[in-house]
Amino acid sequence: MDAMFTLRGGALQVEDVPLQAIAERFGTPTYVYSKAALGGAFRAFESAFADALSRVPGRADGAPQPLVCYAVKANPNLAILNLFARMGSGFDIVSAGELARVVAAGGDPGRVVFSGVGKSTAELEAALLAGILCFNIESVPELHRLEQVAARLGRIAPVSIRVNPDVNPKTHPYITTGLNENKFGVGHEGALALYRAARDCRHLRITGIDCHIGSQITEIEPYADALERILELVDRLAAEGIELDHVDLGGGLGIRYSEESPPSVTEYAAAITRVFGNRRQRLVFEPGRLFVGNAGLLLTRVEYLKPGPVKNFAIVDAAMNDLMRPALYEAYHEVLPVVPRAGATTWYDVVGPVCESGDWLARNRPLAIAEGDLLAIASAGAYGMSMSSNYNTRPRAAEVIVDGDCMHEVRARERIEQLFEGESLLP
Ligand SMILES: *Cc1c(COP(=O)(O)O)cnc(C)c1O
Repeated sequence: MDAMFTLRGGALQVEDVPLQAIAERFGTPTYVYSKAALGGAFRAFESAFADALSRVPGRADGAPQPLVCYAVKANPNLAILNLFARMGSGFDIVSAGELARVVAAGGDPGRVVFSGVGKSTAELEAALLAGILCFNIESVPELHRLEQVAARLGRIAPVSIRVNPDVNPKTHPYITTGLNENKFGVGHEGALALYRAARDCRHLRITGIDCHIGSQITEIEPYADALERILELVDRLAAEGIELDHVDLGGGLGIRYSEESPPSVTEYAAAITRVFGNRRQRLVFEPGRLFVGNAGLLLTRVEYLKPGPVKNFAIVDAAMNDLMRPALYEAYHEVLPVVPRAGATTWYDVVGPVCESGDWLARNRPLAIAEGDLLAIASAGAYGMSMSSNYNTRPRAAEVIVDGDCMHEVRARERIEQLFEGESLLP
């Protein structure tokens, strides 16, 4: 977790607010984020690149600073988007819904890149009318669809081709995206063909190239390899008279959940900059998890302790519908008692009330806990709330951002009536 989460006076707190106070005021389960941790992660990334690029020999004084486009899907809460927008962030979106969130949060559409393999006509139209920075195109039919939409609306659509650099980022298979066997992007030859096709489209303007090789990547080499391959393409395109304005390396930089040792942003920036050199293009990045993952936790309360012949279960009031990552990827999240107890520990599986054996949040953890205790499921700021559902007709959790000694409820807990609001009975 970020350094803004500390054990003080025998209890876990976020910045200057004890977690018990949050549970008391807003109930559980609740996602809790630190404003300082969110802002700190963003600034650390920006300054690592400003610093690394300033030391590149021969780099022009007026060369553009990188554009950071926070990947909205990691955590799309309006308050979080607004926080990043105020720091000058752009956004990586994958749907019209995310675009609407960015606009509602005061984000600049002119700093939005639109990723994803299945953008619908309506989504292409909405993004074109909003004036986004770039459409990251993933296939030939998508390119043609966008040309038609742009022609109909009398606009010019800025495009980048998403290239699949075919490097193995060595992460979980479900979150690898840059291999040829994968549904995302196009290979090198395919990319050349797409650029040539785009050049011939009157309503498209080629602006960049992009890739995104996966998520929770904890090594630097895959990034350096991917960038080298992308730059080969940049040069081949230039030789054909196709000049690009930006090179977008996607997101995916990993965070520490337990034993991982991901590269620091300083190491990442140094490695990228070494390969990139003093090229004139603007670098674009799309970090998601890196900015929010360790800036948030899921606060939950122990409902029951259920000893068993093989396993002991700590049944808590959060479940897989609140935090899906363990069920989906067998992801590891640290579990921290909010008020640690002295005394012997027992091995527990921490599970939720949902009717699925896959409904677990943590397995085989030594914990000294009792009914009613509060637990913090750590590192839950990314792909936690954003992947939550109403399975078992469970209202989604509240979200709170702590700023110093202030708590701000930035999303109210869902009410049960809301869950079937749009439903109706047969006549
Ligand atoms: C999901 C995604 C990201 C963000 O990934 P993280 O691992 O959260 O950094 C960035 N770009 C694209 C295209 C994505 O699909």
